[in-house]
Amino acid sequence: MPDRMINIFANDDEYSQETRKLLRRKLQNCGYCVPKAFTENAELIISIGGDGSFLKTLHEYDFPPIPFLGINTGHLGFFQEIHPDELDDFIFRYQQNRFSIQDMKTIRAVVVAEDGEEFEYKGLNEVLVKGENSRNVHLNISIGGSFIQRFSGDGIVVSTPAGSTAYNYSLGGSIVDPRLSVLQITPIAPMNTTAYRSFTSSVILPPELVVDVNPEYQKQDGLVVVLDGMEHTHIRPKEVSVSLSNTIVKLMRFENYDFWNKVKTKFL
Ligand code: NAP
Ligand code: MN
Repeated sequence: MPDRMINIFANDDEYSQETRKLLRRKLQNCGYCVPKAFTENAELIISIGGDGSFLKTLHEYDFPPIPFLGINTGHLGFFQEIHPDELDDFIFRYQQNRFSIQDMKTIRAVVVAEDGEEFEYKGLNEVLVKGENSRNVHLNISIGGSFIQRFSGDGIVVSTPAGSTAYNYSLGGSIVDPRLSVLQITPIAPMNTTAYRSFTSSVILPPELVVDVNPEYQKQDGLVVVLDGMEHTHIRPKEVSVSLSNTIVKLMRFENYDFWNKVKTKFL
């Protein structure tokens, strides 16, 4: 029988590293192979840290179609399913196939640069479009090919259901159950004066609609496009197109997992 391989990635802090070593030993004792480097043949990827390190792992390995399990070492841990004191319980349940997989939709942004070159970025939480150096931005926003508004303010966040509890929520956006397939556009400090008019609340869109952002350049030349906290700066890009992607992230959850219960324990 070929080796059953499991990859483990951990934050640099001591607690995460200790947890990684302990888990590695436990998995090896149960007959799993835990290679040091990422392997596409792994049946599971374990990320030890907070949501941030889960997102980092995801980006570093380019959204592989392999299930992830998050182990939380003392952060918010919205994506993380277990604690370091539950390792034996996890292995026991894993061996018995007592888990479910939460499918999470991802988001993509295509930036059309000034010279027409296209750059594609992926994200799980959101795409943030803002000005460079804290500048106000003017963004012409089209939804499904129709021009809708000329936004002025700090920028916009387009979030997935999975990302609705992150930056989107801090901005007053709605929490979206990840069983729904929608995109949410939430403004960041929109101006509403006789000079500028834009929506002051979030809008929620069906999955097939593309959000096109065409910036105007006045005082600033740089536009910053941020996916899950990772920044990409472009000078005078023509357009940023944001849409839901077909790439699915698979997150391992245990039998008692309930999205709204998680929201309650983390936010209320
Ligand atoms: P960070 O500054 O450590 O993250 C901010 C907080 O958001 C952390 O507590 C993180 O959890 C939590 N978080 C991340 N994804 C979440 C989700 N889907 N649902 C609920 N909470 C979530 O940076 P990071 O850890 O690298 O995370 C990147 C994310 O930070 C971005 O995708 C963005 O959504 C968020 N962010 C939020 C604000 C804001 O709320 N004002 C500003 C900038 C960025 P952990 O503690 O477990 O890491
Ligand atoms: Mn973090």
